[in-house]
Amino acid sequence: MITEKLKLIKSGKLSAEENVKHFLNEIEKNNQNGKKINSVLIVNENAVNEARAVDSKIKKGHAGKLAGLGFIVKSNINVKGLVCNCASRVLENYVATYTATAVAKLLEEDAIVLGMANMDEFACGSSGETSAFGACKNPNAIDRIPGGSSSGSAASVAAKFCDFSLGSDTGGSIRNPASHCNVVGFKPSYGSVSRYGLIDLSMSLDQIGPLANCVEDCEIIYNIIKGKDENDAISIDYDNKAKQNKTIKIGLLNVNADAKIWALIRNKVNEICGKKKYSVSDVKLNHIDLGIQTYYPIVYVEFFSGTRKFDGRKYGYKIEEKCGEEVIRRILGGSVISKAEFAGKYYRKALAAKKIIRQEFSEAFKKYDILISPVVPKLPHKLGSKISVEDMYNYDALSVLANIAEIPGISIPCGKIDNIPVGMQILSALGNDENLLRIAREFEE
Ligand code: GLN
Repeated sequence: MITEKLKLIKSGKLSAEENVKHFLNEIEKNNQNGKKINSVLIVNENAVNEARAVDSKIKKGHAGKLAGLGFIVKSNINVKGLVCNCASRVLENYVATYTATAVAKLLEEDAIVLGMANMDEFACGSSGETSAFGACKNPNAIDRIPGGSSSGSAASVAAKFCDFSLGSDTGGSIRNPASHCNVVGFKPSYGSVSRYGLIDLSMSLDQIGPLANCVEDCEIIYNIIKGKDENDAISIDYDNKAKQNKTIKIGLLNVNADAKIWALIRNKVNEICGKKKYSVSDVKLNHIDLGIQTYYPIVYVEFFSGTRKFDGRKYGYKIEEKCGEEVIRRILGGSVISKAEFAGKYYRKALAAKKIIRQEFSEAFKKYDILISPVVPKLPHKLGSKISVEDMYNYDALSVLANIAEIPGISIPCGKIDNIPVGMQILSALGNDENLLRIAREFEE
């Protein structure tokens, strides 16, 4: 879809200004009005001017590869001059003083920021309901949660408010809302996209990635934002070109999920395998049932540590005084775990478990090109209905595995159950992002 849009813009049939105005109009119509999707928190008031500047570059023939496209950025990724509030009262007045590397790379290619997306507060959540600025709605199942924490990034693509968006994924936050909103969401290998300018949830797990209408669009964006960055010491260039013409070995991960969701996924896999003669087998990995128990202690400790800068002196308000329930739970929990850490009780144990799970996956990818599972084990709940903390955390059981193993993962639409979209998760080996994207394309309708 991006490719077609770019052709229109290049040929002069559509200007950057028209494209941007169209999206701003859609946001105006259905973000706070109309369908009240509430996926956009801040609109870039300068977007039309920026689009005009891009149009003049296009006319002079030196515009970038994404000239004229409009995108929306999760509110935990800094874009200079725009409020970057992490959907929290704590940072409600914080205007970013610099631009994150991933965004800067898109701007260099003349894409235009349309605005900042709603999200779970400080990326803590899987439903979009912990935002201090009201829950975000799911455009493709309007009474259901859109998923989270990159709720607004997914919902904005689904609502056709933008050409694509950026999200962050610590334990599934790109893939989970992509799955519920019927769009594509890609979490690259850990480190392959710079985290510079991302307000972290858990620095050893966080990863920025694209959400878009199709795999190819994610691929186009990923190829621009990826790569080593001087400002992020752990960022890395994975040199892997997509391999061609190879029989693909698919493993279906033996994990618990709603039978209807599994049925959709198996159907899809069988359909593809009928056409392509790929091989499929069931795979059982040890210890992956411990994903949640491994993930949350790491997140609690690293989040607690990361939030110490929000003491009310430099950025916004003191976090404990303004944040919501889920954020305070993690801060308190993280401080308890940190205190117990002299005995290596939780955090170091979780890191040891992380290593074991990572190893399990790395062994599996010696035999399989990709592993497939549901993204979320259950259908999303109705907006506003109360669920327990455990149930909320359990939504993440299958998505956290990619972050723990540091591997790339994508969610692509797989069908609907009772009119609710369901995504399929495809995982591949660390650094094998381009190959994963190539294979994922074949699974698209
Ligand atoms: N739902 C998970 C959590 O609340 C994942 C969040 C994320 O990936 N940012 O921690």
